[in-house]
Amino acid sequence: MSNNKYDKYEVIIGLEVHAQLSTLSKMYSGDSAEYGGSPNTHVSAVSLGHPGTLPMVNEKAIEYAVKIGLATHSEIRHENQFARKNYFYADLPKGYQITQDKTPICTNGCIEFELEGEKKSVRLTRIHLEEDAGKSIHDMDPYFTLVDLNRAGVPLIEIVSEPDLRSGDEAMAYLNEVRKLVRYLGICDGNMEEGSMRCDANVSVRLKGATDFNQRSEIKNMNSMRNVKRAIEYEFIRQIDTVEAGEKLAQETRGFDAVKGITLSQRSKEHAHDYRYFPEPDLPPVLLTDEYIQSVKADMPKLSAELKEEYMQRLELPEYDARLLSDDKYTSEYFNQLIEHTTNYKAASNWMLGPIKSYLNENGIEIQQFKIAPAQIAALVALIDEGKTNFSVASAKIFPALLAQLDKTPLQIAQELNLLQNSDETMIAELVAQALAKFPEKVSEYHAGKKGLLGLFVGEVMKLSKGKADPKLTNKLLLEKLES
Ligand code: ADP
Ligand code: MG
Repeated sequence: MSNNKYDKYEVIIGLEVHAQLSTLSKMYSGDSAEYGGSPNTHVSAVSLGHPGTLPMVNEKAIEYAVKIGLATHSEIRHENQFARKNYFYADLPKGYQITQDKTPICTNGCIEFELEGEKKSVRLTRIHLEEDAGKSIHDMDPYFTLVDLNRAGVPLIEIVSEPDLRSGDEAMAYLNEVRKLVRYLGICDGNMEEGSMRCDANVSVRLKGATDFNQRSEIKNMNSMRNVKRAIEYEFIRQIDTVEAGEKLAQETRGFDAVKGITLSQRSKEHAHDYRYFPEPDLPPVLLTDEYIQSVKADMPKLSAELKEEYMQRLELPEYDARLLSDDKYTSEYFNQLIEHTTNYKAASNWMLGPIKSYLNENGIEIQQFKIAPAQIAALVALIDEGKTNFSVASAKIFPALLAQLDKTPLQIAQELNLLQNSDETMIAELVAQALAKFPEKVSEYHAGKKGLLGLFVGEVMKLSKGKADPKLTNKLLLEKLES
């Protein structure tokens, strides 16, 4: 008998992701949707829902929602209604949120990702449009809670998955894929830490092999992928402990305490809100034609999966390279520019995943902040291909010098630092002859089978050339001489 009670169970997870759309103005008003700003300066009477004001739907937000819908293979709704979700809270000035209830803009999509080499597809129940609430600030004043309404009304999409995820790692991989998608589409910056992407996790457990779902808890508003994973793993244990102790699980909302690494009950189903949804009377339905949807589709950038495929097929790069190069929008953009200047795709990839990546990691910056132009990297590749330098000299010496002198070409730098290698065949042949003449007994040993001595001769030619002989050519000429 298994002595680990947890082994008998599996975890069931469905995620609800809120992503802030990066539009200039808010979802239903012309107020700026920009992050920050002095508190309560991006707030007009429309955002406050004052009598006599009328909301209007942000067209850009519709376009962004259609984009994510198309990217997730969803059905796009042609007649979009909005609904009021009523509740009272200090950071909700209207007393209701305008959302989509019965008619989400996207349905029946899916998100595909890979985890440890295995492909997984998660079904999406829906993606709908809504608006964000303001922000309550509890720690700035000793007596009062302060409210900043700049965020109230900023457009959000909510992406609701089916309960298809089966581990904390899968949940993380799914969230990573969502972030990749919204970034590639340019519809959300995807920063969980800054709150532009937030996640609620619905978690339940069941005996392996069972087909029914059990009571779930919903863990609210987590702000990092790691915390989502931690919360799920904690819930897995807690729920099994509860069931195995013969207690009943409650359907409840819980919060995650990231410091203690535990979830805590916030409210049970009995205290759940009754939001009294009804159709928003101030907004006519938004009608989307097939032509409109087609025009959005035509405007879509290539996405990660498509680029990866292209890198493998057209550029004949290994899967590993293709995956890393397509993983992030800005990395692929840089790489795409780079390969406009060179046809040595593998060398270009090696530069991206080698020296450039190390440089970014060491300096804690992103590729967007990388200063060397793609054409310059292509020039480095060409310099090596022409035998004027080699990869180790180029990456260890020319590359850092280039970072310090962005206006110079790699060739100029190589000349100034006296780093151009010699690929003059007659001259290297002469040095080869000298090297072999210096060690006649080693040459005999070589011929007797000690092929490893080749390194010694290469080293000697390098020494004679003061490190400048083209190593490839040196090797070739030495072999010709020795094997003839
Ligand atoms: P609500 O409106 O209360 O949030 P929904 O039916 O819309 O409820 O479901 C919300 C999320 O909960 C969805 O992502 C869904 O996949 C997930 N979910 C539903 N049942 C379960 C379950 N038994 N275990 C885990 N997740 C679940
Ligand atoms: Mg929910």
